Amino acid sequence: MDCDEFRTQGKVMIDYICQYLETLNQRRVIPNIEPNYLRPLLPDEAPVEPEDWDVIMEDIEKKIMPGITHWQHPRFHAYFPSGNSFPSILADMLSDAIGAMGFSWAASPACTELETIMLDWFGKAIGLPDQFLSNKEGSIGGGVIQGSASECVLVSMLAARAHMLVRLKKQYPMVEDGVLLSKLIAYCSKEAHSCVEKAAMICFVKLRILEPDEKNALRGKTLMMAMEEDETMGLIPFFVSTTLGTTSCASFDNLQEIGPVCQKFPGVWLHVDAAYAGNAFICPELKYLLKGVEYADSFNTNPNKFLLIAFDCSTMWVRDKLKLTKALVVNPLYLEHTHSKDLSIDFRHWGIPLSRRFRSLKLWFVFRRFGISGLQNYIRHHIKLAKKFEELVLKDTRFEVCNEVKLGLVCFRLKGTDQLNKQLLLNINESGRLHMVPAQVNEKYIIRFSVNDVNAKEADIDIAWQIIKEYAEDVLAQNIE
Ligand code: PLP
Repeated sequence: MDCDEFRTQGKVMIDYICQYLETLNQRRVIPNIEPNYLRPLLPDEAPVEPEDWDVIMEDIEKKIMPGITHWQHPRFHAYFPSGNSFPSILADMLSDAIGAMGFSWAASPACTELETIMLDWFGKAIGLPDQFLSNKEGSIGGGVIQGSASECVLVSMLAARAHMLVRLKKQYPMVEDGVLLSKLIAYCSKEAHSCVEKAAMICFVKLRILEPDEKNALRGKTLMMAMEEDETMGLIPFFVSTTLGTTSCASFDNLQEIGPVCQKFPGVWLHVDAAYAGNAFICPELKYLLKGVEYADSFNTNPNKFLLIAFDCSTMWVRDKLKLTKALVVNPLYLEHTHSKDLSIDFRHWGIPLSRRFRSLKLWFVFRRFGISGLQNYIRHHIKLAKKFEELVLKDTRFEVCNEVKLGLVCFRLKGTDQLNKQLLLNINESGRLHMVPAQVNEKYIIRFSVNDVNAKEADIDIAWQIIKEYAEDVLAQNIE
């Protein structure tokens, strides 16, 4: 494909994308196919000879679209939003065209510098304390884009582990690293995302999963008791992962209590995972949810969830960048450059991969095209729609709401057994008209309704509620125990 063909086919692709997004509501939300549907539709081997672009494009509708779960569909209320917007799509196009690998400052200076500036813009906009921003006097912190929240948690845990092992090595120089490692223990709440458990598996450390309170918040006292108990058992607390906006029910751990507890244990690293909720702190009226963040060593949020940015873009800030990079620096000759280490950042030391896409471009385009006010309006609108849904549920005495609705997520269920609710959700999802996923909240099976669609309107909430009620009447009539 040369530039002329790309020009022509690029326009065709833009038309296809617009048509796809504008007519999404005419499709089923989830596909109606069985596993391995695709293999019989494709040849066994890659083609030896080049194919015409038109032929390739035809296969999109015929073979790929039937197997797509449409995350941008107005009836897609599962998980959390997969953020998207045209400025973000355009930025990814340009990033792909530039094709730079910004692993060091020298490898593409604008990639690194724009990333640093965007993380300062965004950190400031959501109200992070100055110590996380790289352009504040006296700050030794800063921000970086990782591929996912899971990566942010893992990288923080790796840094915390390295930091604690150095401390312990000074105290016990004759003890083997492996022995010290076997003593390290991390903490999170039962409501934390499973990526914390995965990070602990990778880091080869123990993880103690703690009970949250009745509002699904991890409390300081629970943490304190666990850490003290473990210390008496000869273990060494080194990492606490907290969540602002949990995956199941968007609850908030109590950072104001947890922070001072962590400070009682020298060298313990406090991480705050705000993958979904962190974006909402761009609204001044929601910044109260961030209270206690000043105790954190690291913080992450995913603009690719709740801020109109396409995957992948998970922003992470640390209070002390040296503590982070010490765990991750390797320096082969072929990656060295002559520019001052004090003035230039090499982001390869801030994460696991070497090569990195030019992801800050999409933050820059979106911040500029929407403005902070546009992004605030977007978040507020989604919260308003969630509140509307909550109101509809509360008005119907057959249902109950199971979380405190502060953002765009409503957890609800039919009053009755878990089995009844499982059947309700199964029937709705099988219909292909609406998609939601379940969770376990306060020992009950609940259904999560997340306001996701970028262009969601009040009418969409009414339609969703009508569909839910229709299937609820069906399952209630069946007298499921
Ligand atoms: N943390 C929280 C609170 C989440 O809700 C999620 C996903 O929804 C994750 C972490 C994992 O995110 P990622 O897919 O970016 O790894």
